[in-house]
Amino acid sequence: MSLITTESGKKVYLTPEGRKLITVIPGDGIGPECVEATLKVLEAAKAPLEYEVREAGAAVFRRGLESGVPPETIESVRKTRVVLKGPLETPVGYGEKSANVTLRKLFETYANVRPVREFPNVPTPYSGRGIDLVVVRENVEDLYAAIEHMQTPGVAQTLKLISRKGAEKIIRFAFELARSEGRKKVHCATKSNIMKLTEGTMKRVFEEVAREYPDLEAHHIIVDNAAHQLVKRPEQFEVIVTTNLNGDILSDLTSGLIGGLGFAPSANIGHEVAIFEAVHGSAPKYAGKNVINPTAVLLSAVMMLRYLEEFATADLIENAVLYTLEEGKVLTGDVVGYDRGAKTTEYAEAIVANL
Ligand code: NAD
Repeated sequence: MSLITTESGKKVYLTPEGRKLITVIPGDGIGPECVEATLKVLEAAKAPLEYEVREAGAAVFRRGLESGVPPETIESVRKTRVVLKGPLETPVGYGEKSANVTLRKLFETYANVRPVREFPNVPTPYSGRGIDLVVVRENVEDLYAAIEHMQTPGVAQTLKLISRKGAEKIIRFAFELARSEGRKKVHCATKSNIMKLTEGTMKRVFEEVAREYPDLEAHHIIVDNAAHQLVKRPEQFEVIVTTNLNGDILSDLTSGLIGGLGFAPSANIGHEVAIFEAVHGSAPKYAGKNVINPTAVLLSAVMMLRYLEEFATADLIENAVLYTLEEGKVLTGDVVGYDRGAKTTEYAEAIVANL
């Protein structure tokens, strides 16, 4: 096994057979079904990957480990630096810690990239309007520090933390992403009119950094107006950079615009480690029924392949997904109704057949 540096400077492990080593976390609820379907497609596409499968989430909490992430998983992620992950449940009654937040904090994946686009044969009220945008969410600061307490009986308080350094990092990331994807504008969505110091920092830093990118349009927008505009005229947006909680909410909204959470992938990018996962959670209602849509996890794997500079395999899989949807013969229950939808495994097989 050797540690190599890719063309763009990322460090990855190569096996003696020339495969890139990654950590796979199947996760909870519908996670294992989504991940299994994804691995099937990756294998059929001959993606040059080798996996270390590791655990995190509900079962780990139940064994009494408060972080939800065991040492073997942390060790694997430290080594491979690249993770493909199913959703992790936050079980109630086990300290209420999120294994997801543990992973994001531990590996400082400061940028959460959540792209959405219109898909063929996935009907929405917006079909034909060409939605194609990315929410870039700050991923480690804001209200997610989990510093909460009862101030006096009946009055709870939480801490919102925004640093200039954190804001600058995520804003630069968003402008660079816009440039690298040939996009023309970046919006920054904040509530700076009310939280002048925390959300205000994000706005001020955005206006400063924007001057370094004269080739890109830069617009600040108040986050509630962003929600309104996203529903009225989503096609006006290309990249939206925002704080952690705003981004969490806006990106579920944008998933809804293109056919739902089954189609929304994401990447959590840090300086050293990157974690690829669907936007959706463990959807316990559907777990083990072989009916859910694995596209979000599969497209997260496509984002991972591009991160690993395996561009040809990424394009091959993405085109097979688009072709399968375009054909419209095998569609999952979230698109056509659960009484008529294809099994998760059938859908994965249809994608494999279209590779
Ligand atoms: P959820 O995203 O799990 O599910 C909400 C609904 O979205 C489902 O009931 C279903 O109708 C639909 N849906 C989600 N994924 C789908 C798919 N692949 N195919 C078809 N339909 C899909 O949200 P929730 O019910 O609020 O959360 C359940 C658990 O997941 C909670 O414990 C939560 O903490 C956790 N969670 C984890 C992550 C993560 O690991 N990144 C993200 C969000 C929520």
